[in-house]
Amino acid sequence: MTSSNPAVRAARHTHHHTAPRKLDRGLITLAPLILTVVLSGGCAPRDSAIAPAVGPLVLDLRYPTSLPVAVTESISVWGTIGTGKGRLRMNGRLVPVEPNGGFATFVPIPPGQAPRLELEARKGSAVVRRSIPITRARLEPIPPAVPKPAAHWVRLRRPPSDTVDAATQARPIFARWTPRGDVALPLAQGIRLPVEAETPDAVRLRLARGIAVWVPRMETEEASPRRVTPTIAQVHLTQSPTQSVVEVAVAEELATTVETVLTEVRWTLFGAEAATVAPMLGDQGLVRRLAVNDPKDGRVIVTLSLARPPLGWRTSWRAGRSVLEIRPGLEPTAGLGGLIVALDAGHPPLGSVGPTGLAEDSLTLAVALDAAQRLRALGARPFLTRRDAGPLSVEARIALAEAAGAQLFVSIHANAPGEGRPPWSVDGTRVYWLHPNAFRLAKVLQDSVAASMHQAAAGVINNDLAVLRPTWFPAVLVEGTALVIPIREAYLRSPAGIADYAAGLVAGIRSWVESPQQ
Ligand SMILES: [Zn+2]
Repeated sequence: MTSSNPAVRAARHTHHHTAPRKLDRGLITLAPLILTVVLSGGCAPRDSAIAPAVGPLVLDLRYPTSLPVAVTESISVWGTIGTGKGRLRMNGRLVPVEPNGGFATFVPIPPGQAPRLELEARKGSAVVRRSIPITRARLEPIPPAVPKPAAHWVRLRRPPSDTVDAATQARPIFARWTPRGDVALPLAQGIRLPVEAETPDAVRLRLARGIAVWVPRMETEEASPRRVTPTIAQVHLTQSPTQSVVEVAVAEELATTVETVLTEVRWTLFGAEAATVAPMLGDQGLVRRLAVNDPKDGRVIVTLSLARPPLGWRTSWRAGRSVLEIRPGLEPTAGLGGLIVALDAGHPPLGSVGPTGLAEDSLTLAVALDAAQRLRALGARPFLTRRDAGPLSVEARIALAEAAGAQLFVSIHANAPGEGRPPWSVDGTRVYWLHPNAFRLAKVLQDSVAASMHQAAAGVINNDLAVLRPTWFPAVLVEGTALVIPIREAYLRSPAGIADYAAGLVAGIRSWVESPQQ
């Protein structure tokens, strides 16, 4: 570690750190208190968990930074005025400033076509001003869906314009149950499906009788209709102690889903029919029985009975075969001993910056290193996707974890709000998951990190995040707390903040391993 370690930097700032347990209801309840103190003389509360700073008056914005910014009604603004002894106004309203000069607020956009936010920081006779230009974002209504009498077909594909990175280009198309609903079902690019209905910006695709999903129109292109329904007549099962592989010969790649309940796995292939395939019996492998079922509604269901619940699975398409890889679950009695845990210190590239400049990427690395040490002490084998400040792509993070034999993947982050949302909306501990095998891990990590960091458990959220997509192992993304809230940023700068975050991660992983699955 170098001096970029926030723990090292924080050590200089926290001579009287107190655990923010008594403050864990967040800034909403704190705001009036601080506002009162500021109004009555600009003196910071002495018992604050934030160490005071009395630098020269500045007006450094950490958000927004690229201007003009498009917002509909209100905007988050965070940054520092360099001193806890100054005052800050936005469009004439006094904004609470923390003892270290940090602030994070949510302000209404003034009316008019080209509104501006006028910021003014003052300390004695010193004044610094900034003006933020704003363009108004437009909300569009959802148009009604129009049924398509003459069905045409489309092929799923990522729009060529969507080139954030290779991981984004290669990711599946996420279908939704309603035109602009939450992401529901990953569908591989290249699949052909018939269109049942459409709106100007979305199409409803038929998977099987009575099962349809919505996909954004821009993620499709016209395709020739499929003339012959693919028939599944051959299924292969290969097993080793570490994985079982089911291969289905099929004329073209199909939409599939995988559901598991305890030791049963149902792999559905949409748009196919099945010839009679005799049930297969596994010998000593994870799969004990395999059956192919055709309910005659446009689906084929491959049902697997397992010796124990799976740790994870992955589907792919390889040279005329649809493939399901499935890996056995952990033995709870083995505990953490030998468990290969991938710890992914979130960012760079990108990442948020707190009001007084704490960078998310250096914080996450400090937490990952601390957690690795704790895991090693418990007999686990932690693997860090990065150990220095160099940027690392999402694909590289996953590939490195897979090559290291990771059995679970934990990406470590600190939160900042999206456009038009207030800083306190991201307070508390949130954990994101994508594939169902990661839900239980997300839940225990939310509870343990929240408890360890004296935060609210703010949610276990299903979302299509790039780092959670291509994995077979359970993968989660943890937002331990809000980096943009000054009191949380001050806590994350302290050794206690880093230790609490790391200890919460390790406690969660431990209870995930040691509690019975499902
Ligand atoms: Zn992040």
